[in-house]
Amino acid sequence: MIEMTINDRKVRVPENATVLQATRQIGIKIPTLCHLQLDCFEVEHRMGSCRVCVVEVEGRPNLAPACCTPVIDGMVVRTNTMRAINARRTMLDLLLSDHPKDCLTCEKNGDCNLQQLAGELGLHSILYSGEMSTYPLDLANESIVRDLNKCIMCRRCETACNTVQTVGILSGVRRGFEAVVAPSGERPLADTKCVFCGQCVAACPVGALTTMNHTYEVWRALNDPEKTVVVQTAPAVRIAIGEEFGLEPGTIATGKLVAALRHLGFDQVFDTDFAADLTIMEETTELIERIKNNQNLPILTSCCPGWVKFFEHQFPDLINIPSTAKSPQQMFGAVAKSYYAEKVGVAPENLVVVSVMPCLAKKYEASREEFARDGVRDVDIVISTRGLASMCKEAGIVFEQLEDEEFDSPLGASSGAGVIFGASGGVLEAALRTAADWLSGEDLAEVDFADVRGMKGIREATVEVAGRQLKVAISSGLGNARQLLERIQRGEAEYHAIEIMACPGGCLNGGGQPYINGDTGILEKRRKAIYREDANKPVRKSHLNPDIQKLYAEYLDKPGSPRAHELLHTKYSPRDNF
Ligand code: SF4
Ligand code: SF4
Ligand code: SF4
Repeated sequence: MIEMTINDRKVRVPENATVLQATRQIGIKIPTLCHLQLDCFEVEHRMGSCRVCVVEVEGRPNLAPACCTPVIDGMVVRTNTMRAINARRTMLDLLLSDHPKDCLTCEKNGDCNLQQLAGELGLHSILYSGEMSTYPLDLANESIVRDLNKCIMCRRCETACNTVQTVGILSGVRRGFEAVVAPSGERPLADTKCVFCGQCVAACPVGALTTMNHTYEVWRALNDPEKTVVVQTAPAVRIAIGEEFGLEPGTIATGKLVAALRHLGFDQVFDTDFAADLTIMEETTELIERIKNNQNLPILTSCCPGWVKFFEHQFPDLINIPSTAKSPQQMFGAVAKSYYAEKVGVAPENLVVVSVMPCLAKKYEASREEFARDGVRDVDIVISTRGLASMCKEAGIVFEQLEDEEFDSPLGASSGAGVIFGASGGVLEAALRTAADWLSGEDLAEVDFADVRGMKGIREATVEVAGRQLKVAISSGLGNARQLLERIQRGEAEYHAIEIMACPGGCLNGGGQPYINGDTGILEKRRKAIYREDANKPVRKSHLNPDIQKLYAEYLDKPGSPRAHELLHTKYSPRDNF
């Protein structure tokens, strides 16, 4: 620890801290735009490029950026002098001089750090004007909109994409006024190995990277008398959507979510958790077969489309080891357009399946050609958690005051195992619950496999399942997945099963969730809420979900059957790696 003085106050701080971290320790919030710290993932983006966090340091003639200035014993810092505050305003003014000031219609309106800072610094007029950037929008994919005219060159997206995810799409190109962050050759994202995880969108402080908005298509379907419109909602949506309406992070809002979807006019409100249970039936069947034959191990989970696209581009030699089971979103779509459509007598082309997902990659996934039959997509429209919140606001729904309602049948009932898909480790734990029962032939009382839970990027455990020792690993964040896969390629690690999720922490931290602005404490609250929801469920194992049993009895025969394979499994294809 060292001792320093901040605004005439003696402070003891760790010797490796920055001035910014030291000031936060005593409750002073120096504004920043480019700095991003994600404590629970041990990630810090420290560029000093926006210069908004400048402070005065005694003995130094120039103002110092607090985020990049290390503390020194005896240092004297002033954060609130007129010189420092005026310099911050000037920096902001310069940034705004080349920024389209269309806040009212910007996707980020209300969530933009630049807009918020202009308010906090009391900027009521803009001094500078001149040449403005005029880049075309990148709209050529299903997931992400890039508007470089709004880019402030903070380069947080680069850290998300290159350091955390190691996908390596974004970097600074060109110089001076023309400098922007773009893929190599300034290609559209659709022509790159981008996996559409949306972690760059979550990191972007302004409206330069935003979500492709499909809510208008949902409104159009809901108002089309020819269409029957059903909705599925992913596990991680229910524990985060409340944040958009002022509810405490970690509030379980499942019942209000169902009520809100009914108010919006969906004909049936179903649950992706039901399909997560279905995924477990198929994936666990594969796992047990591979263990019994001691073949093709480890099995890799395949529920995350960001991770699937990652291995298709970057690990084509491992393409045969992921489970062939479709993701819960796509299993739901396939079952809705076949089993459910037949049951209610609606032609698949007149049934519109809408997904509410925490995820931007799910938008891309639904558009993959494997997930359509006879030209009819299994999932028609995907909106994010934020997208659903904005639809509720458009419709004047006072979400926080809604009475709890229940999902519809037959695709709405789920077990606790389906719920935990929303957290890193959840898919594997759900599979272990079913594998333990199937291998032992009993209904085991112990359902919690706590060793596989947590936020750490790579976790390993040896779990006892019906007298067998299974070695498993869990990884979230693609940089961590890469480390794990490279160890397997080098023959340094052997596992029976590995769960991989593209987003650090899993879907609860998906690119379509309410923005956390670096507050990773929110993620921990969401994670705990998922496990509370699981613990409260009367059925906690996928294979004991009565509606899943009924689906097999009435339609699919048994897990791994030809019918199940036709509807619920897929294949992967190697893709260019540039
Ligand atoms: S969506 Fe993911 S992979 Fe694509 S540019 Fe953003 S961070 Fe990189
Ligand atoms: S796109 Fe967003 S995150 Fe990336 S440099 Fe520009 S403003 Fe920063
Ligand atoms: S971890 Fe979840 S939210 Fe993130 S890309 Fe994968 S499926 Fe989507």
